[in-house]
Amino acid sequence: MQLTNLKVPAEQVSFLQAVRQGLGQQQGLFFPTLWPKLDINHLLTLPLAERSAKILSALIGDELSQEQVAAMVNHAFTFPAPLVAVNEQMHCLELFHGPTLAFKDFGGRFMAQALAVAQQQNKTTIVTATSGDTGAAVAHAFFRQPGVQVVILYPKGKISILQEKLFTTLGENITTLAVDGDFDQCQALVKQVFDNKALVSEFNINSANSINISRLFAQICYYFEAMAQVPAEKREQVVVAVPSGNFGNLTAGLIAKALGLPIKRMVAATNSNDTVPRYWQSGQWQPNATVATLSNAMDVSAPNNWPRVEALLAQGVISRSDIEAVAVDEDDTQLGMRLLAQEGYLSEPHAAIAYKALKRSLQPEEFGIFLGTAHPAKFKEQVENILGSPIALPQALAQCAAEPGLQQDIPADFAALERAIRQLVAN
Ligand SMILES: *Cc1c(COP(=O)(O)O)cnc(C)c1O
Repeated sequence: MQLTNLKVPAEQVSFLQAVRQGLGQQQGLFFPTLWPKLDINHLLTLPLAERSAKILSALIGDELSQEQVAAMVNHAFTFPAPLVAVNEQMHCLELFHGPTLAFKDFGGRFMAQALAVAQQQNKTTIVTATSGDTGAAVAHAFFRQPGVQVVILYPKGKISILQEKLFTTLGENITTLAVDGDFDQCQALVKQVFDNKALVSEFNINSANSINISRLFAQICYYFEAMAQVPAEKREQVVVAVPSGNFGNLTAGLIAKALGLPIKRMVAATNSNDTVPRYWQSGQWQPNATVATLSNAMDVSAPNNWPRVEALLAQGVISRSDIEAVAVDEDDTQLGMRLLAQEGYLSEPHAAIAYKALKRSLQPEEFGIFLGTAHPAKFKEQVENILGSPIALPQALAQCAAEPGLQQDIPADFAALERAIRQLVAN
């Protein structure tokens, strides 16, 4: 499969090259221009790992053998993605049963596999920004992987304590930087690193953000897993709502649709960082300053995957009416959590936003799926405050919550980041 730089179309790379590079020239995103044909009905009869290997193999093409892809999938997708009924019409696709209790384990773990294949014996430094959950998924996926150093930037004080503890407590090859700024500033710093060609080649730097195509491809697979769990007679009525920040998750769902999965409509749900819903209404792309919300992993006002959505539209493989964009404010987020609790379903702010957006969009004959992107315990304090009842920590969280964080504080400034990278490799 050839991938094209969306900013510099003359730059064409293979899958493994795109995995290695992360971003193309002029910070362009890599993306396919042609899509494979899949036997959807057959795929929906297969178990998760076997089906995912077939989908990913079709996307990657013959650069990797089917056996290689199957082995990568078997290492990466070691946990289920159950579709849980909240009531007759609403269902949550629970994507938080991986080691760091968020959907980013799917992409992070598959990317670790892909990068190991792409880099072979070369030493690599991964520099990535996280709005909360990527950091943990990437840190755990690469922890103790030989030849790999990981540097994670996150906005200091703007992610939950448990989210933070899940990656700042690891140490060893995982360096964590608490940046005095917001997520967009962290993301901008990472982009500056990639603009610095000398630094990138000196330390063989790679990003593990959702801009890496391997993460995006991995995420396509759980939309198929959702559909496989929908009763056959309902499959033409499926509407999927995605709590969105950088819009990687939504893009993966749109790709699944473009590949022929019969998703009727995708609902892009945002919090008050509503650049996309406003754009969808007005046609004007006008990001505001990022505001902090309960759903902090979605506090992104300049979503970096949006050019890929535009590319799918331009390719004509999806159409504008396939996407509905809905913003959910803070009060409505809390209301969503309470409504779900009344239905007997314990949730957290991100999923609650998708649920609320879905509720606004869904027609009586439709089958609603909202994505549960994180385990409620990851947002223990907010969930307990809003619902007024205590929730228990799963073992993985309880363990690391008790350990000291090893992060360094840095200002939102490139020189400080460069120093940290140099220091790390010097050690
Ligand atoms: C990252 C994240 C999101 C947003 O996903 P994008 O792919 O960036 O749109 C939503 N919910 C949770 C819990 C997340 O960690």
